Amino acid sequence: MALTGIQIFKLLPKTNCKECGVPTCLAFAMNLASGKAELDSCPYVSDEAREKLAEASAPPIRPVKLGKGVRQTTTGGETVLYRHEKTFFNPTILAGTVASDIAAADLEQKLKIYNAFQYERVGLNLRPELLVVKDAGAGADAFAATAKCIAETSEFNLVLMTEDLDVMKAGIAAAGFKRPLLYAATEANVDDMGALAKENDLPLAVKADSIDALMPLTEKLTGMGLKDLVIDSGAREIKQALEDQVGIRRAALKAGNKALGFPTITFPCEMASNLDMETVIAAMFVAKYGGIVVMSDFAAESLFPLLLERLNIFTDPQRPMTVTEGIFEIGNPDENSPVVVTTNFALTYFIVSGEIEGSKVPCWLLIKDSEGLSVLTAWAAGKFGGDDVGMFVKKCGIMDKVKHTELIIPGYAAAIAGDVEEELPGWTITVGPREAAHLPAFLKTK
Ligand code: SF4
Repeated sequence: MALTGIQIFKLLPKTNCKECGVPTCLAFAMNLASGKAELDSCPYVSDEAREKLAEASAPPIRPVKLGKGVRQTTTGGETVLYRHEKTFFNPTILAGTVASDIAAADLEQKLKIYNAFQYERVGLNLRPELLVVKDAGAGADAFAATAKCIAETSEFNLVLMTEDLDVMKAGIAAAGFKRPLLYAATEANVDDMGALAKENDLPLAVKADSIDALMPLTEKLTGMGLKDLVIDSGAREIKQALEDQVGIRRAALKAGNKALGFPTITFPCEMASNLDMETVIAAMFVAKYGGIVVMSDFAAESLFPLLLERLNIFTDPQRPMTVTEGIFEIGNPDENSPVVVTTNFALTYFIVSGEIEGSKVPCWLLIKDSEGLSVLTAWAAGKFGGDDVGMFVKKCGIMDKVKHTELIIPGYAAAIAGDVEEELPGWTITVGPREAAHLPAFLKTK
C-alpha cells in the first residue's frame, strides 16, 4: 500500500536543505506521496529508506515491458480505477493474430499491409504494436519460421502462443531476441513454462479458468523469481470477461492484492464471429481495463477507431496536449506570405495548420504558448491577451522573415485587436475567421 506523506517524511533526512527544490523535507514528502515529486530529487535518502520507499511507491499493477525496437511498449503500471482521478499511463496494446501454418508468401503480403497501418494524429504516430503467432498444430519448425519472419522483417513485436513446450522453445530460439511475450503458463504446465521464461528472461502470460484460479499460479511464478507476468482470467464470454477486468483492477488497486497486480491480456477474437463485433468488444477493453487486446485480424475500419479511442482514453486529462511555442512554416512561405497567430493547444494547431495546408497558400503560423488552451478559453483565461500576443510577435523573430506588417489573429480573439495594435505600432491587425474551416477561403483573398 502507498505510504502517507508523514510515513515518507519519517524516512527522509529531515535537514531541510532545499536541494530537492522545496523548502522542507515535509513538503517534499507530501509531494512524493501525491505523485508530484520523484524520489531521485533528494540526493540524501539512505539506501535503506530508498528501498522502502521504492517498494511502497511501486504501482499496484506492475509495468511490464514487451518487445524491442521502435514498437517496444509497456503495459500495466496503472494506479487509478478512473481516468479522471489522475491519468491512465500505458495505452492498451493492440495485437493481431497470425497462424503458424501461414504460407510464406501470404505472411509477406500480410506484413506489408499491417506495416502500412500507421496514422499521424496530433503529432503522434498511431499504430498497433503486437502480432500473436498462434500455434496451428503445424509443428515447431513452422511456428519458428513464422515467428522469425515477423521478428526479422517487420517492426512488430510478438506473442508466442502455444502450450506445447517444444514448440515454444523453437519460437524462442527464432524470435527470442525481440523479447516476445510467452503465452501461456497454465495449471498443467506452470513449472516448465515458468522455468522456460526464467531461463530466457522473457515476460510470461498466465492463463486460468477464473480469477480465483489465477492467484495460486501467479504466486507460484513470482515465488520462482518471475516478475514480468501478464494475466488472463480465461473468460471468453463478454459479460464475464468485463467483470473479470474490473475485478482484477479493483483487487490490485483497492485491496492491494499482489497476486493480481499484473496487466491483463484479453481476446475479443475469441468472443465474436465477425470483425465488427470484435472491434466493439475491443473498444470495451480499451476503456476497461485490457492491457493487451488480441484481434483476429487488422483492418483499417476496425483499427483506426480503436487507435483514436486509445489516444483519447490514455491522454492525461489534467494536461492539455500542446505544441511548442514558435514559428511554423507551412508550404514554403516567403517574405510576402501571410502571418497567422493562434494558441498552442495541439488540436488547435493541427486543425489550423491542416486548413492552411489545404488552402495551398504558404503561411507563417505563429504558435503562442497559452498553456494548452484553445483560443476562446485562452482569451477568457487571460493567456492570449493583446499585450502578450504583441510581445510574442516582437520576440519570436517573424519580423526578420517578412517584409509586410500584417498579422492575422483568430476571429474568436477579435477583442484583443486593439491591444495588439498598441503593442505593435505600425502593424495592421486583421481579424481572421472564427472557424478554422473558413481559413482557406479567407487566405485566398489575401
Ligand atoms: Fe530534505 Fe532531501 Fe529535500 Fe534536502 S533534498 S530538503 S534532505 S528532502
